[in-house]
Amino acid sequence: MTPREPDDGEARAVSPGPLEEDLAYEGALRPRSLAEFVGQSKVRGQLQLLIDAAGMQDRTPEHILLAGPPGLGKTTLAMIVAHETARPLRMSSGPAIQHAGDLAALLSSLVPGEVLFVDEIHRMARSAEEMLYLAMEDFRIDIMVGKGAGATSIPLDLAPFTLVGATTRAGLLPNPLRDRFGFTAHLEFYDDVELAQVLRRASGLLGLDFDGPALAEIAGRSRGTPRIANRLLRRVRDYALVHSSASGIDAVRGALELYDVDALGLDRLDRAVLGAVVERFAGGPVGLGTLSVSVGEEAETIESVVEPFLVRVGLLARTPRGRIATAAAYAHLGADPAARPGAPQDALFDDGL
Ligand code: ADP
Repeated sequence: MTPREPDDGEARAVSPGPLEEDLAYEGALRPRSLAEFVGQSKVRGQLQLLIDAAGMQDRTPEHILLAGPPGLGKTTLAMIVAHETARPLRMSSGPAIQHAGDLAALLSSLVPGEVLFVDEIHRMARSAEEMLYLAMEDFRIDIMVGKGAGATSIPLDLAPFTLVGATTRAGLLPNPLRDRFGFTAHLEFYDDVELAQVLRRASGLLGLDFDGPALAEIAGRSRGTPRIANRLLRRVRDYALVHSSASGIDAVRGALELYDVDALGLDRLDRAVLGAVVERFAGGPVGLGTLSVSVGEEAETIESVVEPFLVRVGLLARTPRGRIATAAAYAHLGADPAARPGAPQDALFDDGL
């Protein structure tokens, strides 16, 4: 991903998109092979088969679509595909392809067998998408020359390539584009054991020696996302460096308290939203607009940045009548559960609201 999506809000320690500070480290921490890549075992097996089969037939692997939330390893997997097939890699992104001409220039400069990574492919211009259909299918594009009645199209043969597209919003891709990928991988959030493995590896690479309980504590606060895990690890490292008396789990707790990341990975904004539902609206239901005014944060930020995680970990439910705090939310905030109105029997969990 390109740094900071517009809806990322402030630079949060738990933002799943890359912050400037991540970029310097991510290169060093990226696994270089499928064997080093932690978790996602199904996707790893599928990719391995694709790569092996292409290798045996000495052809470029099929086009690959990697779908899933930010920070789960899409860019890393694209690099691994190039590395494991010993092919060069070209990196681009949807926002950089705003005209068909941008894509034509990119495609016509690829060397045979090159892996082309297009991050955020759902943000590519429509006109470029159409050009890409033909390129993916036949390794050919038609370049339009001239305007109006005198316009003609000149066919151009391309070198065979493998497109690896990444998207956080697979649903936004038009079907004809989605259908042209030979393989689509849906990346899942990591469990705490896998995140602890990611952290053990990163901590080895950074020359740190945090013990198992310390790594498990960071993992539990990393929201299922390796990028967040690695970022929190660096904050803990800094804390341990400055507070030399704090080691292991004490350093983790000290650092993450300082950065406002609690035991479940919620930060100040998450807790403000959840706290408002519990304390000011008696557990809900409360509408998004009211919540937004109450917390002093834009409705869009609450809806797209804060709520998905709270819903995913079962602290908040979206119902047709508004947001409701769950019993787990009361327990997490230490609020009196007796004050919680019974969750309505007919609550429908509707993501559209
Ligand atoms: P995305 O492209 O999905 O936003 P990235 O591939 O850039 O995510 O991954 C972000 C960071 O997380 C990388 O620096 C990488 O070190 C780390 N990472 C992601 N997935 C894994 C994994 N499965 N194993 C180890 N590290 C990972």
